[in-house]
Amino acid sequence: MKKLLLFVLAAAVTFQAGAQEIKKGAIEAVPAQGSYHPTYSTDGASFAPKNVILMIADGTGLGPIAAGYFANHGELTYFNLKYMGWVTTQSASDFTTDSAASGTAYSTGQKTYNGAVGMDLQKRPIPNIPERVIEQGIISGVVSTDDLNGATPAAFFAHQEQRGMTDEIWADMPGSVLRYFAAGSKEKFEKRPVATQKAIEKAFTVVNSLDDPACATAERLGVLPPAVETGYIVNGRTDFLPRATRQAIDFLNARKNEGKGFFLMVEGARIDKACHKNDFPSAVKELLDFDQAIAEAIKFADEDGNTLVVISADHETSGLVLWDGDPSKGNVEGVHISGGHTPVPVPLFAYGPHAQDFMGVQGNEQVAQKILKLLLQ
Ligand SMILES: [Zn+2]
Repeated sequence: MKKLLLFVLAAAVTFQAGAQEIKKGAIEAVPAQGSYHPTYSTDGASFAPKNVILMIADGTGLGPIAAGYFANHGELTYFNLKYMGWVTTQSASDFTTDSAASGTAYSTGQKTYNGAVGMDLQKRPIPNIPERVIEQGIISGVVSTDDLNGATPAAFFAHQEQRGMTDEIWADMPGSVLRYFAAGSKEKFEKRPVATQKAIEKAFTVVNSLDDPACATAERLGVLPPAVETGYIVNGRTDFLPRATRQAIDFLNARKNEGKGFFLMVEGARIDKACHKNDFPSAVKELLDFDQAIAEAIKFADEDGNTLVVISADHETSGLVLWDGDPSKGNVEGVHISGGHTPVPVPLFAYGPHAQDFMGVQGNEQVAQKILKLLLQ
């Protein structure tokens, strides 16, 4: 009897401790935004694609994707794709990665330590996909709802020992091989040293709006909108991510070298940030916006017939699981069990020629290796 009482007491304490950690959130009556239904005409084809679009939903495990699916009344472009796999995200230094180490694995094909931006374990620069493929005339671009110096976009153009070296990361942009970038923000740019601002403006046509007429004529374009336009949707961002995705695709496609293609990385940065804050409604809105960016990429893949789209995440954040929901009304409830990253594998979706190469379970660095192999053959 004494033993049983002790067991009951212990169970109650554990539950209480757990209850203090978890945070429940709900979103209701989400308007249906539909989804894009692909033609599948080149899906799983055996020829090597000329263009590759890599889409990284920061901090996005199955939880936010499923939440988006139910909130969108049981529909999502993600879930219209047929080739799927899983990605393990451990870094070379930590069981649970950060975005810098995972971004570097995705950008270079090598695992590294948490905090590293395009650097290996010995703190030497590792060539990233844009640097590798330009040798064969393939041009590249980057789009993100994070600031340009955010770990994920930075991994595709910068080489710095720590993700917090903000000025150094911005200063790497003019010497990078990128032809297009769109990320935050006008204000962050203006806080950089004057020499860095001048160097970026010398290398790129820098504009503060996707609608600037210079976007159509520039040879190298940098779009740095006011911070609100790349901030959270719940704070006023509208359609920056899907529009910048489409603009980047059209920009690179129009300027690619004869017979060559392009590589584009698109990051949905704020699913992770919303999950860190345990803000479930914000995470769902960010996921639905990212799904519209996916739709733009898949639409182009269908129009073009020579494009592979790979969609995954750098890690899971907050252990988000679903609690309840009603897809007929666009209602869904979720529970965050932490405010940090978790080590669980993340889902991967692929569409287009060689999408089948990404089935099964693979490391984040292997995703980059497969992309490089396809682009460099
Ligand atoms: Zn994070």
